[in-house]
Amino acid sequence: MIRTRLSNALRALTLVGTGLSLLGAPLAAQEPEPIEAGVAPPFGRYAPGVDVLHYEVEIGLGYGTDWFAGRVDVHVAAEDDGPVLPLDFTGLTLEEVAVDGHPARYDHVAGVLRVPLEAAEEGDRVIVTVVYRGVPDDGLILRPNVHGAPSAFVDNWPNRTRFWLPSVDHPADKATVNYTVHAPAQWKVIANGAQVGAPVSAADGAIGPDGERLTWRWEVGVPISPYNMVIGAADMTVQTVGLAACGQAPASRRDDGCVEVTYWVFPQDVERAEPSFRRAAEMVDYFTDLFGPFPFEKLANVQSATRFGGMENASAIFYSEQAIASGRNIEGTVSHEIVHQWFGDAVTEENWHHLWLSEGFATYFGDQFFEAADGEESFRRLMGESRQGVINSSDVERPIYDPAETSLFALLNANNYPKGGWVLHMLRGIVGDDAFFTGIREYYGRYLHSVADTEDFQAVMEESSGDELDWFFSQWIYRPGFPTFDVQWRWIPGEGSTGTVEVTVRQIQRDSWPTFRVPTEIALEGPGGSSHHEIELLTREEVIRIDGVKARPSRVVLDPDGWVLKGDGGR
Ligand SMILES: [Zn+2]
Repeated sequence: MIRTRLSNALRALTLVGTGLSLLGAPLAAQEPEPIEAGVAPPFGRYAPGVDVLHYEVEIGLGYGTDWFAGRVDVHVAAEDDGPVLPLDFTGLTLEEVAVDGHPARYDHVAGVLRVPLEAAEEGDRVIVTVVYRGVPDDGLILRPNVHGAPSAFVDNWPNRTRFWLPSVDHPADKATVNYTVHAPAQWKVIANGAQVGAPVSAADGAIGPDGERLTWRWEVGVPISPYNMVIGAADMTVQTVGLAACGQAPASRRDDGCVEVTYWVFPQDVERAEPSFRRAAEMVDYFTDLFGPFPFEKLANVQSATRFGGMENASAIFYSEQAIASGRNIEGTVSHEIVHQWFGDAVTEENWHHLWLSEGFATYFGDQFFEAADGEESFRRLMGESRQGVINSSDVERPIYDPAETSLFALLNANNYPKGGWVLHMLRGIVGDDAFFTGIREYYGRYLHSVADTEDFQAVMEESSGDELDWFFSQWIYRPGFPTFDVQWRWIPGEGSTGTVEVTVRQIQRDSWPTFRVPTEIALEGPGGSSHHEIELLTREEVIRIDGVKARPSRVVLDPDGWVLKGDGGR
């Protein structure tokens, strides 16, 4: 996702205040207190003994109502005899819990609905049904949109799915999902996956608030993480950008094998949105060439109530409604979120603490689209902005992989975004384009529709490059900071006009940060052109002698092509 700008954050806070007043409604009175969102769970297997395979979700929405109704069949595989299914579920009223159609015993404490599957043996499949309703405290945002019209949008990251959908709310338990949504007739409903048929009149007695409603169906045929599971419903206008990834989209249900790229925005914002989404299909094609086949059924870009600038929900990216309504061009966000379809959504970090595998990738490759489309200067500028984002942040006093951080929201930091992006850039500089992109494609193919952690990624890059990369990941992922160099040089005249350039490179970053091992180059620039010399920095002070230099250089530049993340140093 793209982190929210401060102005949006403040606006969101105001709206939270408005939402709280709704708790006075009669329905809410009987609802359990919601848990606090964004608290990191203990490491290790999240829900031992069970594996969710599929969610069959039914949601009933009303026009401008503050409540909704839900029903879900959770299809579970037992991995032990008699396991307990721990469904995350908070702040709503439970109406019914059943196991294979029979009323079930359960307890519901501190946001976890525990359903014993006593009769299940290892390998059995069980369907657990939960029926519920209420005023959601989070996760499903029911409120007027930026233009004052009623709307309903899901916003889950990091673990807020549980506020509207009983689920094993952890990125590692991926499942397929089908949605049946009863929504006011004047709304359109978007969700992950492929739409199944046209909407039909909702049946009498369909769950949720009364009113003239239509029933929409969407199906996701590949497993996705619960934080990616979304629906959105409002009066929206759908615009088609084009077709992409033709023949390179195994999940597509279209006869032509393409992915349809669309945007769904409020009617008032159609024209304002166009520049942001104009190149979205081109982006999908570009990244398909770079990474491998597009992983999902389609790609919708949706103006929504997400608290983030953009949220990469699989095949249904949600963007800040304020950002789009402002008329600002958010192409940079669009490119970033589209990269997430591959990295984050299709290959997902095993737990939140490996977030750089999602956000670092989206930051770096998102910028690469603009190199390909708009030229290298765009890319250099974006990498420069990323670098500033790192060196001006106090986040870098912690390592990228920071298991001590217990707030999942705090992981949306300069380490996982720009520094993670720079780690990829440096890795590419060290192993070279061939090994780097071969490794990226292999990593994508190997962990497609599954999860991976940093060690998995390192192992693939070691295979593709043939290099041992412990030193690289150790200093950049598991330790804090970045190097800052002080470079001094002098000219030592030799025989005739030739001489020696002696360069002293000192690493002057704080002592508590690592001494970085940095393979790089020194450029000697002079009237006759420039020459590049490969070096490797290993200690806090290195003296490098370059002999046989034809003329005194006018300038000596460390890392002339900008492959190394570094602080603003002396000379
Ligand atoms: Zn992102």
